[in-house]
Amino acid sequence: MIPVARTIAEVREAVAGARISGHIIGLAPTMGALHAGHVDLIRRCKADSGFAVVSIFVNPTQFGPHEDLSRYPRTFEADLQACEAADADLVFAPGPVEIYPRGNRPSTAVEVPGELADGLEGASRPGHFRGVATVVLKLFGIVRPDVAHFGRKDYQQLRVIRRMVADLDVPVDVREVPTVREADGLAMSSRNRYLGPDERRAATVLHRALVQAGRAVGEGERDGDRVRQILREAVESEPLAELGYAEVVDGETLAPLEKLGEGRPAVALLAARVGPARLIDNAGLPA
Ligand code: AMP
Repeated sequence: MIPVARTIAEVREAVAGARISGHIIGLAPTMGALHAGHVDLIRRCKADSGFAVVSIFVNPTQFGPHEDLSRYPRTFEADLQACEAADADLVFAPGPVEIYPRGNRPSTAVEVPGELADGLEGASRPGHFRGVATVVLKLFGIVRPDVAHFGRKDYQQLRVIRRMVADLDVPVDVREVPTVREADGLAMSSRNRYLGPDERRAATVLHRALVQAGRAVGEGERDGDRVRQILREAVESEPLAELGYAEVVDGETLAPLEKLGEGRPAVALLAARVGPARLIDNAGLPA
């Protein structure tokens, strides 16, 4: 069975041993409830390192007061099997007190620039990226990985982490992992478990909308608002989906784009509530 470290001291000891053996250290941060997308991410982490650590920590500071922290799916035994199947070397599964020994008292935090953190997910989840960036920096400090893997599925998160690593000179090589999808296009997500059968069918609308927008841009559409409208109308055509946002942004700065095809990578991003689940997805748009 894969070894599990519960404390910072344990994970540091195991990582130090691996380093002495000459291994590159990889980290795949997760919140558990692992699915095939996570397994792919962990496999890539292992391929890019010699010793892959998977952290499983449902980080309270990235959840808003009315979000799904207490009912976030927890499937620890199955997660361990998934980590083992993905050839990980160590699971780091701390409790909240290990990570936040001062409890709710204020602690030092990463201030994420508003231009990256205030729009899109940040607009409906104030403080979310501060929580994400802070816990990721802590995990980097605890595990001290050489490489760390993040999914493009959480595109804004990936940009925030990259920016933090650049701004704070964090010596970790951040690698992007493509989004793994179900056969019908739905991006795999721990939150898909919340969906009933009709909602599960309706949830494919996010991917369908992104494909439709990509096709329009491929056929020459260059107007950002027009592409937003295509995304919006596609999602709104699904009665069980309630649109959060439909955006077309610069892939690096996340600034909304007026015109596409001016030498900048463009990304379309969507959020929608389908039944009890808030789902997000995104896709790069053709140049
Ligand atoms: P989470 O447990 O949701 O915090 O996700 C942990 C990591 O897995 C993050 O870097 C996510 O972007 C990544 N991830 C989540 N879903 C997918 C997916 N469908 N394909 C690839 N990576 C994913």
